[in-house]
Formats: sequence, structure tokens, C-alpha cells
Amino acid sequence: MNNKFQRKSSSARRRCFYLAGSFAVALFLPPFSSAGRADDAKSAEITLVHKERSLQPGEAVLVEMQSSQPLQNLHVEAFGRQFPAFPENGKMVWTGILGIDLEIKPGRYAMTVKGAASDGSSVTARKYLQIIGKKFPARHLSVDEKFVSPGKKALARIEAERKKVNAIFASVTPEKIWSGRFEPPVPGKVISEFGKRSIYNGKPRSPHSGVDLKGATGTPIRAPNAARVVLAEDLYYSGNTIILDHGLGLFSYLAHLSEYLVKEGDRVKPGDLIGKVGATGRVTGPHLHWTVRLIGTRVDPLSLIEILGERE
Ligand SMILES: [Zn+2]
Repeated sequence: MNNKFQRKSSSARRRCFYLAGSFAVALFLPPFSSAGRADDAKSAEITLVHKERSLQPGEAVLVEMQSSQPLQNLHVEAFGRQFPAFPENGKMVWTGILGIDLEIKPGRYAMTVKGAASDGSSVTARKYLQIIGKKFPARHLSVDEKFVSPGKKALARIEAERKKVNAIFASVTPEKIWSGRFEPPVPGKVISEFGKRSIYNGKPRSPHSGVDLKGATGTPIRAPNAARVVLAEDLYYSGNTIILDHGLGLFSYLAHLSEYLVKEGDRVKPGDLIGKVGATGRVTGPHLHWTVRLIGTRVDPLSLIEILGERE
């Protein structure tokens, strides 16, 4: 990171305008000290807009950036994380997706765009997001006690699986495998919403980090977008589980399957048959649990569908 650049922010030229329902702020920063350079090459200027269902915990946010010059690279920093961006229509229009994690606290957060122009000079733009709190309702579930108070042997297995899954979610495949919009993996309606506080047999557990979609055992599950299969195995809580790597730190996690029809390393296209709905793991009945992880953040899969809904 170029610190010289950060210090120049006070002399930055700012412009504000209203576009597509969002405020956009362009922040121009010269790549070098204005006193020390004789060349008058104009640095890239970036304007940005963001689109979302709401600025609340568990929401995905689409960030669209327009540069005045072609860029080599660009990313967005927010909530202490670095979200990749990708070019569209050449190197002047870039898109990124941010995740507002399920447990982010309400408040004002900076969203900073950073990158490099084709001449190597740094570019940046900043905007602030006001995150509004959200109260998630509770859900009470009755399951086999082994899923609420697991024994010592089960706890060791749970811990090993947790580490393995977290390592997958912490990885970022530089290739953008997904494209266009996301589609629900089964057509069934939502039977348990994202973010609900989960109380199993009267004991509070982790909040619901995905959506539960209705589906009878054997219902075909289709890839919500293009991906590489990075896990297909039986996990203690999730039962038969598939994790799809859509690239750029975006993952789908599909749980409680009766069977999976793909294996680790497989490439899948949008809509490919990958498994069947079941009732394996910690469940009260057959359904499909779908979690989306984006640079580690837990976001409602339906918010991802919505922000990308009109794209080709
Ligand atoms: Zn679920």
C-alpha cells in the first residue's frame, strides 16, 4: 500500500452526485506529490455506486465502479476485509460484491476502492456505508440430542470438520468462475429464513447462516452458478454436504443431501445436477440448506440473487 498516497487525501478533489438510488463519491488522488512531479499526466478518477436490498447484517452489496482510465487491478476494502473486483467491458468498468456479515454491528463503515491504472499509478475512492441494525427472530427446533450435546468423540470430529470448512472459506480463488445471475438450487420456497437465532432442544446455538429451501427427499439440486466442487462429504452437523467454489472468494454450501452426484475437483456449470435433497445431519426433516460465503462473510443467498438479478 502506498502510504504517501493516503497522506494526500486531504488535498483530494471531491465530487458528489446521485445515481441509481445511491450516493456516489469520486475521490481523486494524484499518484505523486504534486510539488515534486513535472509531468501533467492525469490520474484515473473512479466513480462508484452501490446497490443492495438494504445496508443491514447479512446483505450482499453490489459495487459498480467506473474509471476514467483503464485499470490493471481494483479491489474494495470494507469491514476489515478485502473484496476482489473484476473488469467488465474492457478495463474501465469494474464490479465487486461486498458481504455485510450476519453479526456486523450497526454503524458507519468506510468502503475504500483501491487499484492501479495502466501506467502503474495508484487510484482510490472512498464512500461510507451506514449499516442499520437488524433483529433476527428465533427458531426453536427439536433434534436428536447427539446434535445438541455431542460426546467427546463427536466433538473431535466436529472440530476437525470446522477447521477444514473454515480453511476453504478463508481461501480466495483468483479466477472468477461464476457469471451472470445466481439461481436457487431447488425451486422450493424458503421454510426457514437466513439469520434466525437457532435454539435446539431449548439451547441457543449458532445463528442460521443460510436459507432452508423446501424440498422432498430426492428432489434434484442444481448448481446455483458455475463452480468447482471443493468438498463433497458427510459432515457431522450438515450431513452430506457439497461446497462449491464460485471463484473470487464466493462459495455455496449445500447441506443435508440424501446423496451427492459430484466429487471434489469437478467443474460444474449453472444448473448442473449435483445432488439430491435429503435429511442427513442436524435436521427436523428433509430440506435443502444453502449458505453463501463471500470473503468469509455470511450473507443471505437471496440477497445475492437479488443484486445480480438483472444482469446477463
Ligand atoms: Zn438451514
